[in-house]
Amino acid sequence: MILAGKTAVVTGGGSGIGAAVARALAREGAAVLVCGRRIAPLQWVRDEIVREGGTAIALAADLTQEADLNRVVRETDRQWGRLDVLVNNAGILGVRAPIAEYPLKVWDDVLDVNLRTVFRVTKALLPLMTRGGSIINVSSGVGRAGRAGWGAYAVSKFGVEGLSQVLADELRERGIRVNTLNPGGTRTAMRATAYPDEDPTTLPTADAIAPVFVFLASEEAKGVTGRAIDAREWLVGGREGLLKRHRRPAL
Ligand code: NAP
Repeated sequence: MILAGKTAVVTGGGSGIGAAVARALAREGAAVLVCGRRIAPLQWVRDEIVREGGTAIALAADLTQEADLNRVVRETDRQWGRLDVLVNNAGILGVRAPIAEYPLKVWDDVLDVNLRTVFRVTKALLPLMTRGGSIINVSSGVGRAGRAGWGAYAVSKFGVEGLSQVLADELRERGIRVNTLNPGGTRTAMRATAYPDEDPTTLPTADAIAPVFVFLASEEAKGVTGRAIDAREWLVGGREGLLKRHRRPAL
């Protein structure tokens, strides 16, 4: 088990990609805290992990709210006293609309959840990352090349890319790797909302892409930091392909 003895926080861990990643991290031996606004799906993920012999904590938290975020930090500290892996996965889509018609309130909400909260969660949990580790920020294809109709969602993910580059540079000396991961089209509720006419069975499941998160969380990804990675690279080229493309000397 390549994550034995490690601890992880997965935001938005009750559904879709976050739930699959939490299960995959736990299967490799990590103790996992999953958080999100709705407690029921989080408890379901926790129970599934525990049934499989893993360790998990479910915590209801609206991460845009300071008091909720503080509870996540306190609980992580109380349970483990440290953190090795942070997966900033929670996100919202907003609306699909051109900028000229984009509602201000939705713009603010999307930027709040998808960007400001990634900054705040990371800042709040960093003091617990005392022995190096890995931060994986979930991005998107439209966070790397803008596309009509993706509005605040695309802009928020561009922000996540920038935040991650700055962080990777700042945390290199502490042995904390920071990368962004674009899942690519994945069979989840958010994808179905964005593409209502698409046949979901044509897309990879969240479980199919979860192993790339495990890899990035583990020591196997040593030397991979400050990189913008696509889950498709993993699906096509596997571990070796990904290392060849993204590993850099140092760290
Ligand atoms: P999802 O199932 O809708 O997951 C989003 C998660 O974020 C939910 O578990 C949600 O839980 C949580 N969340 C939203 N607002 C929150 C808040 N204020 N506080 C705490 N948690 C919050 O969709 P998904 O597809 O798995 O998305 C996961 C990530 O992948 C997102 O960052 C998304 O942008 C990215 N992504 C997905 C695709 C795709 O094709 N699926 C492609 C590119 C990028 P609650 O509702 O319970 O809070």
